[in-house]
Amino acid sequence: MTSPRSLFTPRNVLFLSTEVYPFAKTGGLADVSAALPQALCKLGHDVRVMMPQYGFIGEKKQKIYIVNRLQGIEFEIAGKYIVSNIKSSAILTNKTRIQIYFLENEEYFHRLGLYVDPVTGEDYPDNDERFLLYSLAALEMCKRLLWKPDIIHCNDWQGGLIPALLKGPFKDDPFFKDTKVVFTIHNLAYQGNFPAETFAKLGLPPEFFTPEGMEFDGKVSYLKAGIAYADAITTVSQTYAEEIRTPEFGFGMEDMLTKRKLDLHGILNGIDILVWDPENDINIARPYNTDDFEEGDFSAKEACKQDLCFDMGIPYTEGRPVLGMIARLIDQKGFDLVAAILDKILEADAQLVILGEGDKKYLELFTRLQAIHPEQIGIYFGFHDNFAHKIEAGSDMYLMPSAYEPCGLNQMYSMHYGTIPVVRKTGGLADTVIDAGTAKDRQRPEHSHPTGFTFEEYDPRAFWKALSRALRIYREDKPLWRQLQINGMKKDFSWDRSAIEYGQVYEKILKQPKSHLKQQPGTTIPLSSLQEGS
Ligand code: ADP
Repeated sequence: MTSPRSLFTPRNVLFLSTEVYPFAKTGGLADVSAALPQALCKLGHDVRVMMPQYGFIGEKKQKIYIVNRLQGIEFEIAGKYIVSNIKSSAILTNKTRIQIYFLENEEYFHRLGLYVDPVTGEDYPDNDERFLLYSLAALEMCKRLLWKPDIIHCNDWQGGLIPALLKGPFKDDPFFKDTKVVFTIHNLAYQGNFPAETFAKLGLPPEFFTPEGMEFDGKVSYLKAGIAYADAITTVSQTYAEEIRTPEFGFGMEDMLTKRKLDLHGILNGIDILVWDPENDINIARPYNTDDFEEGDFSAKEACKQDLCFDMGIPYTEGRPVLGMIARLIDQKGFDLVAAILDKILEADAQLVILGEGDKKYLELFTRLQAIHPEQIGIYFGFHDNFAHKIEAGSDMYLMPSAYEPCGLNQMYSMHYGTIPVVRKTGGLADTVIDAGTAKDRQRPEHSHPTGFTFEEYDPRAFWKALSRALRIYREDKPLWRQLQINGMKKDFSWDRSAIEYGQVYEKILKQPKSHLKQQPGTTIPLSSLQEGS
């Protein structure tokens, strides 16, 4: 049999992500950016990752060291003379070693927030310049290392300038002659839109600032630049790849995405089972695995529930359902639906635990509700990795009533931990959770291994209908409940499958002639890159 490793020519892949676990994380992108490079590396690719060195990243703790030839990188950005260094560390497992490069620049990145000022709660006003520097430094780094990337894989709006730079000022640069770009959208709602004046800072030809290019309602859009100029665009589930071509989910980018639909691919994220594994998770009270469940031993999961209740300050009662949520407290995640059915949840004698940080309105709402119902609602506001693992293991059900969800990782973590997801059927949630259905439904082959509960309309009644079904089966049909748990734990959400699909996209675009995308005339680079060795 052909091994996945021999399916592909080994490629040099520069993976650009502005958050990578465990160095910096605001959401799922960080998890993806640690795990996908490892899975690509297992296929034989030489993958190197680059991210900014934020102010909270400790050099000693993360074993970050100086790389001589990456010191003193100079650019002119918005009329300012900017000097940066690139340093290096690695993510090591017993099978892979991924080189991680850190862009160090005091002025732009030595801050406590990634994109948003934690004090004001507003986006940093110079985000346009910060991620311009990041993009230019990434290209410069390859040159200084004399390491030609076959693929530059950039993620979200922060990496959207790279394809534009390569189709513009770097178009005739022999170093990048054979380089192709993949642009992955993890969430279309975050677009990196800046005032028109930003365009003058970028050194791109004027025709790039048009509706066919990166202009978006008169603004400069880094996300749109990525969509317009990348050789391939991917997003993180098949369903989301279709949804974003509609006005409901497209956030104004639907026409551009439809135009590029032949180059748009939906590839489902995986989960990192070295980090998220109930059998080897040091964060949880007691480890467990599928064998335990198949032998009818649920005691370790119950111990995790007890521990979770203790940590969240709510009383533990055997047989009383605990519903978990870990999410940024934003509208997307369906907290208004949770608030709308909270009375019913409480009446049903369930308990709710929430871990999150975000919008003030949700902080205030849930603080108030917790004060009224301290026995049934447990909340931790903030970012807490250890609690996230405890919630996945200790809850009976996991709620994800999202308005939209590009992929979603938590529902997959839940299933892997034998925790039943109750989700809205959208994006990656639709692609990963199979509804319990009726006994008749479960006879259909595609429905024979259900893992959770789903609903379609973004509406409190629909959500409650799904959740009340779940609560009834939890209380009245233990054999089915146990089966759902075991089905979920046995599902293969490993990155290996997705990495093969990314490998196929890489091969496809590497075979395409450069003329595949309408070429845009290049210009000279106005930014003085004064390094040696390029
Ligand atoms: P998104 O990327 O939209 O935030 P995902 O479900 O794809 O949503 O991924 C969210 C990731 O961030 C998960 O690993 C989740 O556990 C983690 N996470 C979100 N909020 C918190 C928090 N407050 N504390 C710890 N982990 C969190």
